[in-house]
Amino acid sequence: MLIDSADALLDIAVRVPVQRVELDLLVGTGIELLVRRDDLIDPQLSGNKFYKLFFNLQAAREQGLNRLISFGGAYSNHLHALAAAGNRYGFQALGVVRGERPAQLSPTLSDAEAWGMQLVFLSREEYRNKTDAELIVALREQYGDFYLIPEGGANLAGARGMRLAGTALEQQLKGDYTAVCVACGTGTSLAGLAAGIDLAKPAIGFSVLKGAGDLGEVIASTYRELGASDKSANWRLISGFHAGGYGKKHPQYLSQFWQDFERESGIALDPIYTVKMFWGIVSLARQGYWSRGSRIVAIHSGGLQGRRGFGSL
Ligand SMILES: *Cc1c(COP(=O)(O)O)cnc(C)c1O
Repeated sequence: MLIDSADALLDIAVRVPVQRVELDLLVGTGIELLVRRDDLIDPQLSGNKFYKLFFNLQAAREQGLNRLISFGGAYSNHLHALAAAGNRYGFQALGVVRGERPAQLSPTLSDAEAWGMQLVFLSREEYRNKTDAELIVALREQYGDFYLIPEGGANLAGARGMRLAGTALEQQLKGDYTAVCVACGTGTSLAGLAAGIDLAKPAIGFSVLKGAGDLGEVIASTYRELGASDKSANWRLISGFHAGGYGKKHPQYLSQFWQDFERESGIALDPIYTVKMFWGIVSLARQGYWSRGSRIVAIHSGGLQGRRGFGSL
């Protein structure tokens, strides 16, 4: 794939399958659940991280920068995708990882290293200050000039990529849906998606974080930067389905749901994001949140590499 035009991305995005899923838990709720399989785009570089990286890679190229740097934890889907992208498109990728280097790398980081990503480990305390100008200057001195992508791919270029996924979805379904749902970490994907679909339709984000903090403000400002108007903002953030918080061991009801969902639908989910979104969608359906006849599209944002090491089903 070329990374020199938005058309190349749209071309991929309009061919992502959207499939209907039947679940026992949805029987009698009167809603139809569709899943947009962005997890299938590519075995190494897929899901929302693929979209979020696209315009960042393009910008790096345009700026003549061959080195990419970004940040994440030892199981980060974002660093994994960045390493794959660097390898595929000929960038030198530098991954700044939270915590000391362990004796044995996580599967995520082993892949990243195998794909040529250089790993730099920061103590948790240093990592907290990763956006400090001083640290960035020090990294530039040590590794040379680079194009910086924030943790999680959370910048405007990232949101523009996901906006394109929204545009593609609109073209594919020709408006025949009620709402679009996505799991939220930084909220970049939600902001982009909301701006890309028909602004009369809601984009609903399920936050996987325990405390949403200023997430709503961040989403609002990204959404504005994309040129969408705040007055009739078509995004909503739902925070009640984090199930204990980011990366936490699943409560029994969630592991049960995870197993049932995968068995009934034949679709694998990641433990951090998508399983919580689907749990949220289904729970809301059972509470009567969606009106009967609703056609809900859920974005399968990928992250399946993160199943390794999370504990077995
Ligand atoms: C990173 C990630 C998200 C969260 O995306 P944001 O744009 O940060 O909100 C959702 N799903 C998966 C699978 C992810 O890897």
